Amino acid sequence: MDNSDDFEPEVYNLVFHNNVCHVCKQTENLLRCSKCKTLVYCSKKHQKMDWKFHKEFCYAMTCVRNELRKDSIHTFEDFVEFRNSRGRYLKVVLNRELEPLEFIMCMSLRFCEICLAEDVQLDCPKCRNVFFCSEEHRNACIDHDKDCEELKLCMELTLSLFREGLGNTNFEVSEVPSSVQNLPNNILDLLALYDKNSVSCGHDLTQNILKLKCISPVASILYGLEKCGKLNNRLFHKNGLTIHIVGGDIYEMGLLWKEMCELIFHWITNLTELEYFIVGPELNHSGTTDKFTKQLCDNCKNRNVKVNCTFHTQLYHNIVNHLKKPDVVVCFNSGLHVNSMEFSTESSMEFPMESEKLPEHNWKDSIEFLVKKGVPLILTAYTLNEINDDIEELIEWNKDKKIEVSVKPHKNPFCDKKPLRDLYSQKEPIYYVNGYISVLNET
Ligand SMILES: [Zn+2]
Ligand SMILES: [Zn+2]
Ligand SMILES: [Zn+2]
Ligand SMILES: [Zn+2]
Ligand SMILES: [Zn+2]
Repeated sequence: MDNSDDFEPEVYNLVFHNNVCHVCKQTENLLRCSKCKTLVYCSKKHQKMDWKFHKEFCYAMTCVRNELRKDSIHTFEDFVEFRNSRGRYLKVVLNRELEPLEFIMCMSLRFCEICLAEDVQLDCPKCRNVFFCSEEHRNACIDHDKDCEELKLCMELTLSLFREGLGNTNFEVSEVPSSVQNLPNNILDLLALYDKNSVSCGHDLTQNILKLKCISPVASILYGLEKCGKLNNRLFHKNGLTIHIVGGDIYEMGLLWKEMCELIFHWITNLTELEYFIVGPELNHSGTTDKFTKQLCDNCKNRNVKVNCTFHTQLYHNIVNHLKKPDVVVCFNSGLHVNSMEFSTESSMEFPMESEKLPEHNWKDSIEFLVKKGVPLILTAYTLNEINDDIEELIEWNKDKKIEVSVKPHKNPFCDKKPLRDLYSQKEPIYYVNGYISVLNET
């Protein structure tokens, strides 16, 4: 396990965790960098190996730690504010923007869950994700038990994805037996229908996590359509389905389009034509994949299905009139409510962990185009609060229309299964992609 050649900085620098060797990602006998107290290593050897990459951050972080003293931290909010001011100061010292990993390093302070004392030595032995200043405070933290398992899973999945490569799902979407009429109750049972190989690994998340990530968006669409009565016994009311996916979590959809098409065709038995329009500046490319129909499985080819997926990096309101009218509009984790927030260079620093998940633009101009008469709008969000805020925002900006919440916000049975850490919330430290879902309609 100690062949230095196996650890490339471009690879190991993709993942940071408070309690794993920054180079080889093992979790035993760790030494913490005595200067910045941020990175840990399994050995002097790995520390030395990493030094030329760590050096700049280490000096800056050490300087920030020494100069920015914490006093008056009484509440978790004080603590978050302190952490943010550290992030801002770090940027000043480095005289540049922080890399995404540096953000995370800067945010991942080890502080006592109870009294918020810093640099504490006692880790939760199970999840290694929360810290205590003393046995006494560890015993006092009964709240933690409910999150411990998820936090542990969160770390394990990150590390196993890291070890096994972040690459391909190798997901061959099987035919779903015609005896199945309705969606099952959860995403794992749905995966079992779609993927014969998943059965052999049972409900083991580490084996299936990439497939679940790929299923979650499509399953959320199918679920939304079923819930609002547009999909009955796996039949859509016509042979063509046009979907607009707008903003939010669309970054990776360019890679998943083939699976996203197969999943739909194998579920909706009468469908012969499927069009996806994926729109938003979060995409890193524009273009179309209609010529790839031939990459679909033999069953799809025999059905003579047609697909057309086009990707548009514009804002929705600038392009919506040029797109074919949708049967359904979908916003995945779009953060519509961010509309009402002030954006400034300072405040974007307040959400460093979320900088990836928040849209760069605000929704002000596009939001009124999301709801159209007779076209359901499926919304997902990370948390219940967020989806409620999204809906409120949507109604606020569409005052001239009569908008009905046809499916009330609730936990999405088809949410992604990889727990994500929310360092901004002590109460709800874990969230999920597509965690909550709701369907709206203009009546
Ligand atoms: Zn190591
Ligand atoms: Zn250091
Ligand atoms: Zn304490
Ligand atoms: Zn724990
Ligand atoms: Zn197929």
